[in-house]
Amino acid sequence: MVDERLLKILVCPECKQDVRLEGDWLICQTCRVKYPVRDGIPIMLVDQAEKLDAPDES
Ligand SMILES: [Zn+2]
Repeated sequence: MVDERLLKILVCPECKQDVRLEGDWLICQTCRVKYPVRDGIPIMLVDQAEKLDAPDES
């Protein structure tokens, strides 16, 4: 689990917006990417990010 204090200071390295924890991922809704969390360590690297699935709304 990610430390909540750590989570508060984490921002997306791409757009500098807050990210949201979802399971083992940190989600940036602005960039629509997710960053992996490995062993409780957020990997906030653009080249480690994966694209989110396309949203349902068009
Ligand atoms: Zn972002």
